Amino acid sequence: MTAAQDAFRSWFYRPWFLAMLAAALSASLLMAGSYFVAIQQVEQNESREMNAQGERFLARLEQLFGQLRESLDDLEAQPLRTCNDEMIATLQQVSFNYRFVYEAAYMDATRICSNRPRQEGLSLLRPPDIKGPTYSYWLNTTTEPDENRAALMLGRGNFRVATSRGHLTDMVDLSPGSSLLVVLDQGTRAIPVLGVSQVWSLTEQWPPSKTRDALQVTPTRLIYRMPTDNPEFQLVLISPRVGTHIPPVWWWLLSASLVLAACVGFLVFLLVRQRQSLDAELTGAIRRGELQVLYQPIFDLDSRNCVGAEALLRWRRPDGTLTSPDLFIPMAENTGQIRQMTDFVLQRLLEQLGQLLRSNPQLYISVNLAACDVMVPRIGQVMARLLTLHRVAAKQIAFEVTERGLIDVVVARENLQALRDVGHQVLIDDFGTGYCSLAYLQTLPVDCLKIDKAFIDALGHDAASSGVAPHIIHMAQSLHLKVIAEGIEYESQAALLSSEGVKFGQGWLFAHALSAVQFIELITRGRRLANRRLDDEA
Ligand code: C2E
Ligand code: MG
Ligand code: MG
Repeated sequence: MTAAQDAFRSWFYRPWFLAMLAAALSASLLMAGSYFVAIQQVEQNESREMNAQGERFLARLEQLFGQLRESLDDLEAQPLRTCNDEMIATLQQVSFNYRFVYEAAYMDATRICSNRPRQEGLSLLRPPDIKGPTYSYWLNTTTEPDENRAALMLGRGNFRVATSRGHLTDMVDLSPGSSLLVVLDQGTRAIPVLGVSQVWSLTEQWPPSKTRDALQVTPTRLIYRMPTDNPEFQLVLISPRVGTHIPPVWWWLLSASLVLAACVGFLVFLLVRQRQSLDAELTGAIRRGELQVLYQPIFDLDSRNCVGAEALLRWRRPDGTLTSPDLFIPMAENTGQIRQMTDFVLQRLLEQLGQLLRSNPQLYISVNLAACDVMVPRIGQVMARLLTLHRVAAKQIAFEVTERGLIDVVVARENLQALRDVGHQVLIDDFGTGYCSLAYLQTLPVDCLKIDKAFIDALGHDAASSGVAPHIIHMAQSLHLKVIAEGIEYESQAALLSSEGVKFGQGWLFAHALSAVQFIELITRGRRLANRRLDDEA
C-alpha cells in the first residue's frame, strides 16, 4: 500500500473527521429532504390557490355571460331600431338594470348610439371572435390600459353589450404576469381577456377531455382550464409559478436540519472516541496483564469426575471491576485484537496448566476460537509451537467454535480438519443458537456438541423449548458425537440430561470458572464433587 493510501485510510480513524463526514452527510440528506417537503408544500398551496381562483372566475363569468345574454334578449325584444334619444334612454335603462353591463350600444349602417356619450371603446366593426347561432362574442375589445374599458362584448342582431374589466377583476385579483385567456380555433389561438398575452401552443388533443385535471402544473406556469359547455372555446387561467423561490418554511427546516446534523456529528464523534479509547484500553489491558484466564471444570455426569475445563477470559481492571467477555470479545473481534487474545489464552493456559496436563494425560482444556481464528491456519502453527515447548499432547487441547463463527464453511472446514488431523478435538459451542442443520453438521469435522445454556434452562420449565435439548442429544448420538451440556444449575437438570444419555456437563451446579491454582487443586486432590460447589475465586 502506498503512503498516500495509508494517509487516506488514517483519516478514517480520526473521530473529528468521521464526525464531520457524518454531519455533512446527514445535513445534506436532511436539507434535501426538508427542501423537498417545503417545495411540495408550496406547490400544494399554489395549486389550491389557483383552483380557488379559477372557481371564483368561473362563477363570475357565468354570472356575467348570463346578464349580457339576458340584456341582449331584452334589447332584441323591444321594438326600437333607430338611433334616437328614446333608444339611448333604453340603452341606459338596460345598463342600469344589469349590473354587469358597462356599455350597451345599437348600430346600423349609418350610426352608432350608446348609453355612454364617448364610446370609442367599442370597436364595433371588427368581426366577432366567436360566432354562435344567436350570440356573437368579441374578446379583448380594447388594448387601452383603461380599467373600465370593455373586456368582453356580446352581440345579437344590431345590439352590442360589453362588460368592464372591473367586473372581472373585482372578484379575483390577478397576480402580475397572470392572464385569463380564451382559447379558440381548435386550441391554436389564445386571446387574453385579462392580463398580458401568453405564449400558447396546443399541448394536447382538442377538445380537452373533461375527465383530466383542471389544473396543469409546468415548471414555470400554472394552467387552469375552466370547463365550458361550448366545444368552440375554452377559458384558461395562466399564472407564473411563484414556487421556484425558496419557501420561508424551508429556512426553519434548514436550521432544524443543521442542528440535527450537528447532533449526529457530535454523537459519531463520541462513539468513535469511546470505541477508540476502548480499543486503546484493551491493548493496554493485554500489555499490563489485566487479562486473566479462568477454567470452568467439565464433569462426567455419572461419576462426577472432572474430565477437563473450558478456558474463559476475564478482564479485571486495576480498580478491581470485572468486564464481561460478552462485552469485550465482540469488540476485540471487530478490531482484530482477538488474535492477540487467543494467543494469550493459549500461552497462559500452557504456562499455568502445562505441568498438570503432562501428569494427567486424560485431562483436556478447551479454548474458544473467534471467527477470524477459524478462517486462517495460524492457530495450528501457534499451538504446535506451544505444545512442543510445553511437551503437552495435542489431544489435550480442544477448540470451541460457534456456528456463527463458521462464516466461510469451506475455509473453516479445511482449518478445523487440519487441527483434528494433529489430534485436537473440535467442539461446536452454543449449539442450537445458530443455523447449523443436521445435514450441514454432517459435513463438518467435529467431535462434540455443546448444548447452549438456553436449552438446558428450559429443561422441565418451558414446554415449547424443553423438547429441543433431547432432540439435539438424539441427533448428536445418531452422528456419534459427544455431548456436553452447558450451564447446568440444578440437580434436576443434571439427572434429566444424564437419563437422556448426556455424558458430560459444565455449570454452576458443579463449579464456577476457577483460577488456575483452584483448578490444579481440584485435579491434584482428585476431589470428587459431591454436593459442594466450587466458586470462582478470581
Ligand atoms: P461460552 O464459551 O459459551 O462460555 C460459557 C459461558 O457460560 C461463560 O461465560 C461461563 O462463565 C458461563 N457459564 C457457565 N456455567 C454457567 C451456569 O451454570 N450459569 C450461568 N448463568 N452461566 C454459566 P463467560 O465466561 O462470561 O463467557 C461468555 C462468552 O465469552 C463465552 O461463552 C465465549 O463465547 C466468550 N469467551 C470467553 N472467553 C473467551 C476467549 O478466550 N476467547 C473467545 N474467543 N471467546 C471467549
Ligand atoms: Mg465456549
Ligand atoms: Mg457456550
